[in-house]
Order: sequence, then C-alpha cells, then structure tokens
Amino acid sequence: MLAVFSYARLRRQNSAVDEDVEKLKQRLPLLDYLRQQNWTARPAGHGSEFVGLCPLHPETRPSFYVNASKNLFYCHGCGQGGDLLRFVQLSRHLSFRQSLAYLRQQSAPPADPAAVLEQAATFYQQQLHRYPEALHYLKHRGLEDPASIKELRIGYAPGASLRRHLTAQGHSFHLLRRLGLLNPQGCDAFYRRVVFPCCQARRIVNLYGRSIDAACAHRFLPGSKGGLYAWEQVRQCPEVILVEGLFDYAVLWQAGFRHLTCSLGTSLNACQFRQLCDRRRTVYLTFDVDANGSGQQASQRLAHRLQAHGIATRRVLLPKGHDPNSFFVEGGDARQFQSLLEAAQP
Ligand SMILES: [Zn+2]
Repeated sequence: MLAVFSYARLRRQNSAVDEDVEKLKQRLPLLDYLRQQNWTARPAGHGSEFVGLCPLHPETRPSFYVNASKNLFYCHGCGQGGDLLRFVQLSRHLSFRQSLAYLRQQSAPPADPAAVLEQAATFYQQQLHRYPEALHYLKHRGLEDPASIKELRIGYAPGASLRRHLTAQGHSFHLLRRLGLLNPQGCDAFYRRVVFPCCQARRIVNLYGRSIDAACAHRFLPGSKGGLYAWEQVRQCPEVILVEGLFDYAVLWQAGFRHLTCSLGTSLNACQFRQLCDRRRTVYLTFDVDANGSGQQASQRLAHRLQAHGIATRRVLLPKGHDPNSFFVEGGDARQFQSLLEAAQP
C-alpha cells in the first residue's frame, strides 16, 4: 500500500517538474542560451539550423548543430545531444536538479516588484472561489456580488503553493522573501487572508490581507502602502468619499458608489494628503464612529488640515458604533447612505 502511495506521489512530482522544465525552455530558448555563453554559429542550410564549434569537446571544424525550432542540439564529433537541460548538465557538470535550479536563475527576468505582485494577486484571485471559507468570510463582511469581487480583484491566500507558483515563473526565493510574500520559513505570508491589491498608476504597489480567523492580525507587505486606494478613478471627481478601510470601500462599491477612495487607516501619509489637495473638491470624511471617539477625532483633525489647504470637507455621521462596512452588513442600503451624505456637516 505504502509503495503504491509513494509511486503516485513520485509521478505527481515528476509531472510538476516536467511542466516547470517546459515553461523554462520556452522562456530561455537553447540558441539564446548558447549565444549568451558566446557560442558563435552560422546558418546550416535550413532556416532554423545553425552550426558552430562544439562547446563540449575540443575541435577545429564545426560539428555542433542546433535546431532552433526543435530547441535541440547534436554534435557529430562527440555524439552528445539533447535539450537545454541536457546541455547545461554536460557543460557545467551538474545534476538534472542542479541544472534546473541554475537555469531558473539564469532565465529570471530582471526583478520588477510590480510584475511579481501582479502575478501573486492573480494567483490569489484564482484561489478565492476554491475555498468556501473565504467566500463565507466575504459574505459575513457584506460582500457577495461576484461582479464587485472581481472588479476589486479580491483574492484569497490559502497558504499553499504560492511559492511553487511564483518560482515556476522564474522568481527566486530571495526576491519573494525581499518583497515579503514569503515568511522566513518560505510559507505564504498572507496565509488564510483575504487579499486586496493596492494600485498606484495602475501598478500594484502593495497587498492588503485580512485574516479570516479573528485571532490573526491584518497585514500589508513591508514598504509603502502607496497613495490613496484607486485614486486614478476619482481624481477628476469634484466630490470624493474618503473611508478608512478596504471593507468599507468594498461595500460602498458594491452598493454602486464610485466617487470613492480609501486611506488604509485614519492617518494619511504625505502622498495621500497631497492627492486630496491637488484640486478644488469636497471630501466626505467617512471614518468609523467608534466608541472611544478616535475615528471622529482623526476625522476632525483631517478636516482642519484639508480646510487649511482650501479643500471643502463634510463629516459623514454614521450611527454610533458603526463604520460603513457594519452599516451595510446590518441592513443599511445605498439610499440610506446617500441620506447620510446629504446630511453631512462641514
Ligand atoms: Zn562535441
């Protein structure tokens, strides 16, 4: 029984490796790799064939052929032949696995953090619908409209396979650690969190993860949170609703409000403050009305600072103990929220 199980597991591992190898060979064609290693060649008659001196054995007359369309080599001198992996094994005296690791590094695109975060966000988005506990959590936070969930690119980090997925795309463990996607043990840092991508100028600059277990804290990646959430979509609006949390943003979005942004906390960074002040507009401050009054104090301080920069402000007063998210979760609707906006005081 045990032997059968091990065999099945081995086969699964092998097919995963095959898939990685195919992707890698597509990313780094054999001919490109040889040219990077200063192999010089001339066309050998047919369009996709090239011939040059063999890098694997000493010779003076070229007998090393590369078929670029088949992505294979063969040497008539030493009789060696195969694909990119085989060539690396022979030329660098590495095992298959070592060659694979070496080529992954060689073929890694120059690290563009936004591109890696884009791939991570897409991965999380694909996972969301596979995990009922994540959808259940979203429903519990008042979010169930599939179109809104898709528009906001909300995803879920199940905790498994992010590392394998991103390293198969050619990203090094070191890079994923540096971006904060993996913890020191190599596991997904957003484990069991619902994830929102935060964009600036249409590039993802950070990710926000809200744990679906009450015990675990929410988190961002290390580094800047960027400016106001989805600012590009509202910067031309004469009136803007400002909320402090992404779940506040999401329920308002779902209710049809579009002139909406989020500061990801009550204290704005310098970039976010500049954005709000970059033209004449009215800002509807919609911070939490929490029991200790801290949300409203922050709201008042921000209103004064904005007014000093010529920005009109209105403070939206939710029922006591509420934030926009809980207002909608407990039955509030778009019409009622619209009335609160209309009643907001300078
Ligand atoms: Zn040879």
